[in-house]
Amino acid sequence: MACVDGQALNLEGSIRRPDGVRRVVQLLGRPQRNEDGKIIGLVGTLTDITERKQIEDRLAYEALHDPLTGIPNRAYFMEQLNTAVQGGRIDPNSAFAVLFIDLDRFKVINDSLGHLVGDQLLIECAHRLGSVVREGDLVARLGGDEFAILINNIANLEEPVAVAQRIHEVLQVPVLLEGREVFISASVGVSSNLTGSVEAVDFLRDADTAMYQAKHNGRGQSALFDPQMYEQVATQLTLENDLQRALERQELVLEYQPIVDLHRAQVVGFEALVRWHHPRWGVISPNTFIPLAEETGLILSIGEWTQKTACQQLQRWRQRLPQAAALRMSVNLSVKQFANPNLIASIDDALTAADLSYHDLRLEITESALIENPKTAESLLADLQERGLQICIDDFGTGYSSLSMVHRFPVQILKIDRSFTNRLEDDPRGVAMVQSILALAHSLGMTAIAEGVETLVQWQILQALGCTYGQGYYIAKPMAGSDVETFLQGWSNHPSGGNDAKTT
Ligand code: C2E
Ligand code: MG
Ligand code: MG
Repeated sequence: MACVDGQALNLEGSIRRPDGVRRVVQLLGRPQRNEDGKIIGLVGTLTDITERKQIEDRLAYEALHDPLTGIPNRAYFMEQLNTAVQGGRIDPNSAFAVLFIDLDRFKVINDSLGHLVGDQLLIECAHRLGSVVREGDLVARLGGDEFAILINNIANLEEPVAVAQRIHEVLQVPVLLEGREVFISASVGVSSNLTGSVEAVDFLRDADTAMYQAKHNGRGQSALFDPQMYEQVATQLTLENDLQRALERQELVLEYQPIVDLHRAQVVGFEALVRWHHPRWGVISPNTFIPLAEETGLILSIGEWTQKTACQQLQRWRQRLPQAAALRMSVNLSVKQFANPNLIASIDDALTAADLSYHDLRLEITESALIENPKTAESLLADLQERGLQICIDDFGTGYSSLSMVHRFPVQILKIDRSFTNRLEDDPRGVAMVQSILALAHSLGMTAIAEGVETLVQWQILQALGCTYGQGYYIAKPMAGSDVETFLQGWSNHPSGGNDAKTT
């Protein structure tokens, strides 16, 4: 680089030393002129600035790269995105897409497995994301568990959607960290100049909005941005705020669904299921707000409330109804609740306040809660078992672990997922699947509850296969605590509970 400042000279360049090593040098000098103004010589200094240059380059690199993963950072990404946006303005055929990637439940993994494991996971994710793109595409870490990809020169929207699909595929392979398998997934939002927007920041925001929508649809999903999403996301955000106040405003209620012994047609307990009566949106399903509560951490106080309320309800039934003496109450626990170190204390409180014992309560956890942190799960479950509390694995058969790993954990009950029960009537493979789950359960000394029993025929098949318990709309839908008395009184008249099934 040369720069003549008036009479002064400032040059940068590289020279080769006699030993062959290249050095970067700076020449600062002043030309010497004769009386006619002609340059006759040069007086100046030659400085070796190799080290300074290296530091400058390093700083420039660091300003644009993420120190943990070594990939480009948000600033770099925005710079490149700006270039792509400019290019798109000049040449309308130059289309690009932005993918916004957010890891699902990263906070839960980070909190439960520790930051070092979290960091390793981010590095591995950066690596895997790099493996799905072509040369010339850009993968960057925006911060936290958020990544972005810029794909240049796309012909259509199918291309970025296919990349999103590949992302889900490469993330599906569990990550081996400190000897344990960690399962991850990501939500991906896609925006493109084929679908609108003007400025670079808008593309990133659109992709973020689409990602938010994808996350709302469930884990491991992608969504392509469309302008209507703003409204839906705005609703989501108010829901998140509203949920903060739902507990104190007493908008959460529990419903109870009976669990019956399929052979004796006897009600043996109830599962407490939470609902949110939103003042504006009506009844909101736990499938919608439990994930929100998990993300925001509200799940812990919601969980404590659920345990307390369910225990008190069981005690109230016991005081009023002789049939309720032997009933147990099942309460669901989400992954974060299960990882909460205060779990046992909170259960203790709920039981003591309602004057119940550990035998009166069952906890339902999903396979992912076990897999996320198997060592802690093992000792926690052993502790709970020692106290006499029963543990059910909920939605069994839908998680990753399935048949091979349950034997590790002191679990008493498998809840066969509804998706198996509803294939019993017309799909022989459905029958075979339930048979093998039952065989596994029995060989490990566990009992099974079939979820989602919707017809008498399903009940009878389950009974013939040797499934002990069932739960589902055919028996009863979840109901208010105050309706349970009427339900129990009418139970002997239920078409299956009272008659057919008992004689089958
Ligand atoms: P889950 O624990 O597997 O509960 C069973 C779900 O299946 C319930 O949905 C229930 O209403 C529904 N169901 C029961 N029988 C039938 C049937 O015959 N057919 C059909 N189609 N569905 C049936 P719900 O109440 O919407 O709860 C959904 C999920 O939300 C629950 O699945 C559970 O994982 C979670 N959840 C509910 N309450 C709580 C809670 O208090 N705490 C936590 N952490 N999670 C909860
Ligand atoms: Mg459950
Ligand atoms: Mg279930």
